[in-house]
Amino acid sequence: MNKETKCILAGYTPKNGEPRQIPIIQSTTFKYDTSEDMGKLFDLEASGYFYTRLQNPTNDYVAAKIAALEGGTAAMLTSSGQAANFFALFNICECGSHIVSSSSIYGGTFNLIAVTMKKMGIDVTFVSPDATEEELDKAFKENTKALFGETIANPALTVLDIEKFAKVAHKHGVPLIVDNTFPTPINCRPIEWGADIVTHSTTKYMDGHGAAVGGCIVDSGKFDWMAHKEKFPGLCTPDESYHGITYATKFGNEGAFITKCTAQLMRDFGSIQSPQNAFLLNLGLESLHVRMPKHVENGQAVAEFLNDHPKVLCVNYPGLKTDKYYKLAKKYLPNGGCGVVSFVIKGGRFEAESFMKSLKLIAIETHVADARSCCLNPATSTHRQLTDEQLKEAGIPAGLIRISCGIENKEDLIEDIKQALERI
Ligand SMILES: *Cc1c(COP(=O)(O)O)cnc(C)c1O
Repeated sequence: MNKETKCILAGYTPKNGEPRQIPIIQSTTFKYDTSEDMGKLFDLEASGYFYTRLQNPTNDYVAAKIAALEGGTAAMLTSSGQAANFFALFNICECGSHIVSSSSIYGGTFNLIAVTMKKMGIDVTFVSPDATEEELDKAFKENTKALFGETIANPALTVLDIEKFAKVAHKHGVPLIVDNTFPTPINCRPIEWGADIVTHSTTKYMDGHGAAVGGCIVDSGKFDWMAHKEKFPGLCTPDESYHGITYATKFGNEGAFITKCTAQLMRDFGSIQSPQNAFLLNLGLESLHVRMPKHVENGQAVAEFLNDHPKVLCVNYPGLKTDKYYKLAKKYLPNGGCGVVSFVIKGGRFEAESFMKSLKLIAIETHVADARSCCLNPATSTHRQLTDEQLKEAGIPAGLIRISCGIENKEDLIEDIKQALERI
């Protein structure tokens, strides 16, 4: 199947007389004839469902569709993108571990890694997304367990050199985890470039309608855990909380990561996506391949308009020839990246606020990547917990405005931006 067909058909194949659309299994529990039958599930001897805190069929249909789109072997849905990134990292980290991460990442993920995971005893070294191989090498330590980055960073719109990052990660015997929220698998499939684990905030383009918060983790099935078993004891030695199962030998490279993540982390932290939200997410996925090119078309048009405007200092959009990441974008995002454009307005915070107040169609929202266009000044909202120094490190000046272009008519969007710039 090509990606367009996968958007519609992958993950769920109804049998004779079964519902055509993915059914919402709105049930906390599942019934069994004998406790022996149920025991097999608890021992991971048989696959099936027993409690929706860990797994639910609706979620699994949708996760299987995303796995197919990304070219992975297994996937799971989580309650949010934050939960997806936390689980993806914590599944292979523990107190005393270390992570290397691109500094150009979503503010929530930055905070998760730099503050909250630090409290759990997990250390991080942030590196520039533009770091050379040698600079990346230097960031690795004996206890490093993962390299992390975003394909297109939110909101800095830097493009990750996935092949380079994968090469360095593999040289140090750790997986590359890539948050692929912004391009979605329609515009980039990081696994094809060497990424091992892919994460998503499905809240964004995948849902695409601003209806449901959610996340997803996809495993490429390519990372050889047993080849680095001293680094990953959680996957490569018996799990006493699961009757001595060794995930990497029992489920192989294709299944170990997601099975452990479900059996341990979902069991203990319970950040499952509700089946109702998984159903809504699936409706979004069915039109993802139609919507993404429109988001790209609008993003490109708005970026070009802003780039030529005298009140604009600079524009970040990897689709612009003048953009620092144009060459990487041509390689990794040949059909365009996403509809998110960021620009720095001449002046600063005051000019940014005055521009945003005058917009009529484009709404001020802490959100990106849905059908409706919206905008935000990160320094005073999503990134306000960062110090000026951290803001700079993350590539976010105070006057930066992020516009997420929806799928409205592009002339209407440009007209709205034009009149608001004139009112400053
Ligand atoms: C929004 C976002 C997240 C967090 O996702 P939530 O669904 O809001 O928890 C993570 N990564 C990126 C790139 C995002 O844009």
